[in-house]
Amino acid sequence: MKKALVWLRDDLRLRDNPALHHACEHYDAVLIVYILDDETPQTENYGDRRIGGAQRWWLHHSLSDLKDNIEKHGGTFILRRGQANTVVQNLVDEWEPQAVLWNRRYTPWGINHDKNLKSKLQDQNIAVQSFKANLLMEPWEVQTKTGGNYGVYTPFWKNIRPRIMQELETPLDIPQLKSIEDSPASDTLNDWGLLPTQPDWSGGFNIWSPGEDNALKRLDRFIDQAAAQYDEQRDQPSVEGTSRLSPHLAFGEISPRLIWYKLRFALESASGNTNAQDNIDVYLSEIAWREFAYHLLFHHPQTINQPLKDKYNKVPWIMNEDMYQKWCKGQTGIPIIDAGMRQLLQTGWMHNRVRMLVGSFLVKNCLIPWQAGENWFWDTLVDADQASNVMGWQWVAGSGADAAPYFRVFNPVTQGERFDSNGDYIREFVPELSGLPNQYIHKPWEAPEDVLREARIKLGTHYPKPLVDLKTSRQAALDAYAKMKESS
Ligand code: FAD
Repeated sequence: MKKALVWLRDDLRLRDNPALHHACEHYDAVLIVYILDDETPQTENYGDRRIGGAQRWWLHHSLSDLKDNIEKHGGTFILRRGQANTVVQNLVDEWEPQAVLWNRRYTPWGINHDKNLKSKLQDQNIAVQSFKANLLMEPWEVQTKTGGNYGVYTPFWKNIRPRIMQELETPLDIPQLKSIEDSPASDTLNDWGLLPTQPDWSGGFNIWSPGEDNALKRLDRFIDQAAAQYDEQRDQPSVEGTSRLSPHLAFGEISPRLIWYKLRFALESASGNTNAQDNIDVYLSEIAWREFAYHLLFHHPQTINQPLKDKYNKVPWIMNEDMYQKWCKGQTGIPIIDAGMRQLLQTGWMHNRVRMLVGSFLVKNCLIPWQAGENWFWDTLVDADQASNVMGWQWVAGSGADAAPYFRVFNPVTQGERFDSNGDYIREFVPELSGLPNQYIHKPWEAPEDVLREARIKLGTHYPKPLVDLKTSRQAALDAYAKMKESS
């Protein structure tokens, strides 16, 4: 009897899951395990991180869904909690499989842990096999003409697009799962306490339906309803113009290969409609940003908490706790910033355009280090992803690869007026401003007294006065960045 242990991590799915597929094809008994690891000591160098609060909510529902799905297909799934490598070793001792299989991860801490475990298991004559599952192109598969790594997105995209189109293999179906009789015991999901209780802040998360089948449904709905207008709508935060697949991708409930595969059909069936094709292609290029983020993190692992460009350590950041807390809570007095931060708290997600604005505001207008923003996002986003989050924050700060130039300080008022011209997004997430006419909804401090009175707003009482003056704080940021340039 050949037994295999499959360790699921950020690949909580049955479809297109190469490790699981391989195990089911080549072994007689397959035990599937998920390990909640809050115990591995967190080390600065590798950026080990416990899963954040918002993602714990998602994880609970995703695991519950996966368990049902695995059992429906006749498989055995257990949950264990503890230091992951020790738990795997304990399971190996207890169940005595000949092999341990997993899909590869690409964060510095993931690689480090997996390497250590692999060599320990191999020393005991246990076969270890790992697979590509969560990226279209692994970081070492993409090289510049001179054999180097990419630091700029566009040539990266030009390299990988035709290759993916040509090399893309058909996603794997759900394998024939193998039930086992001698399963080691499982923890009970409810005992893990992943859901918030005191208080339960997850009411607004009901916009989400975690789980593999729901991920597929979301993708199909996006393809039917929004993909052909993606580029035209994706910057409007009040419109559901993007796929909102990011949390499903972060947990691996859907593979990027399956997304690409389905989108390629959409591209083909839109033949003759170049506008739709262009929109779909822009969507594929966004999926490639995720690939680029992993490419960068793999080749520059120190960027998990250090700027890619060293000189950015010299920006005179000021960790002003009071300003930071107001930003976190959506109480800055700048409507589009507050709407974004409240959308995040309420729903665990924020529109990409607004992520850029709140990031620029924190790092540039408040001169707070980008790592503080990255940390808050890690805890509050349901789609928190180490590679994309770090890339996003370093982009905003100007310190990353292909980043926004240091002198680009987004003006949240003009950006708000441009991308939320009717103020619908503000009215949804900052309801106390909903009575303001469109003319002032992005800059209530400019509204005359009678307009404010009519809208039942007293600034400083019902809604905060602006935390910073946008003009002077912009200049202060430019001066600070100029100092950094001078001293480097
Ligand atoms: P869509 O527009 O439908 O795009 C489809 C998919 O492409 C996304 O699900 C995502 O996987 C990928 N994608 C799109 N844009 C980007 C991008 N700029 N970078 C990397 N991948 C991208 N994304 C995360 O998944 N996790 C994060 O922790 C994260 N943190 C961010 C922090 C900042 C400061 C910024 C500016 C961006 C961050 N992003 C992050 C990227 C982006 O905002 C989200 O991926 C996107 O908003 C998710 O919504 P969607 O699925 O509807 O995206």
